[in-house]
Order: sequence, then C-alpha cells, then structure tokens
Amino acid sequence: MRLLLVEDEPALREPLREGLAEAGYAVDVADNGRDALHLGLHEAFDAVVLDLGLPQLDGLSVLRRWREAGRTMPVLILTARDAWHEKVTGIDAGADDYLTKPFHHEELLARVRALIRRAQGLASPLLQHGALVLDTRSGRVSAGGQPVALTAHEFRLLAYLMHRPDTVVSRSELTEHLYAQDFDRDSNTIEVFVGRLRRKLPPGTIETVRGLGYRLGGPAGVP
Ligand code: CA
Repeated sequence: MRLLLVEDEPALREPLREGLAEAGYAVDVADNGRDALHLGLHEAFDAVVLDLGLPQLDGLSVLRRWREAGRTMPVLILTARDAWHEKVTGIDAGADDYLTKPFHHEELLARVRALIRRAQGLASPLLQHGALVLDTRSGRVSAGGQPVALTAHEFRLLAYLMHRPDTVVSRSELTEHLYAQDFDRDSNTIEVFVGRLRRKLPPGTIETVRGLGYRLGGPAGVP
C-alpha cells in the first residue's frame, strides 16, 4: 500500500513518515500544496493524509481539485484544534475522514487502515483467503494457524492482493502501489518478490494470469 503524506511542519511530518513506513506503507511526502496536487493527480495512492494549512496552495483547494479531476483515493484531513468548520468544509470537499491536531499516531494508523479497507469494500481488519489470514492491525500473517514470517516488501505485496480478492492485479499496478516515487523500482522487480512470497505461502496462493498479472487463487481460492 502506498500513501501520500502532505504536511509542511517537519516536526510533525518526519515522525509521521517514520511511523507510516514502520507500519509497512510505501510513503511519498509533499511539504506544500502544489507538490501535493501534482502527486495526487499523477501518482497512484491507496490513501492520503492531508494537512489543510499548507504553503502555496491550501489543503482544501488541493482536495477539491483532486475530486474535480475524478481522483477517488481515500483522504484523511488533519485539522486544527477547535476549527470544527474545517471538518465540515473538508468533508464536503471530498474528505473521507479527519483527525484533529494533536493526535496519537496509533489513531492515525487505525483510521488509515480503515480507509484503505473500506475503499475496497472490506469491513473487517482480518483479511482471509482460505487458510491464509492477514491481520491489518498487527501486520501478522498466518497460514492454517501457523505464523508466516514476511519481509516488509512481501507483506506489502500480499496485503495489496488480499485487499483485492477476485481481482487480477497487473505488474505495473503492483509497482505503482508498492513503491514510493524515489524508490529504485528497477532493481526490485515484482516477479522476484512474487517468487519469494510464493515460497512462503501454501502452494497456489498466488496465481499468474498469463499476460495480465496476478490474483489470489489456490484450493480455497477463486474458482
Ligand atoms: Ca500546516
């Protein structure tokens, strides 16, 4: 899962970036409204954390222009304390959720998880596919009750697929959603990660759909 974090205050932005990366997300960062607008229009994100008070272009204008352009990714806005009107205006402008500063990182992480889930129509934080269970809260994966140890990249790849059951996901879509923009994508090809992940999962869990990409499959999976 790939996130865009838009926050101009370094003292808030850097710990947030670290916390989100530790939670397993690929994180792109913008520290002003213009860069945020551009990234949100042209890059693929699974969710956005958007501060409203930004230099160059304010967060509400950024959000409105994304929505006008048909960008549907879930957006959580960060609002100032006591500014209840910002929440109303923000939600009317197309925000999916809000948090008031100051907030606990755990709350932000929980809200981001829920936004990503709901964007895929999933209500439970436990994602299941046959005997395979992925807990989006703890980042743990088990197969038939046995824990499966995954690297951050492998987890991200599996989480992306498990958020999209019954869907064929192309290699280019995976590349767009698993890596931040500044990451050297070429040296970490999707095929390599799929291969490593397959060796750790029950046989047939990830099917190759020739010419199209990958999807969850296997004995308990998609017919
Ligand atoms: Ca700000």
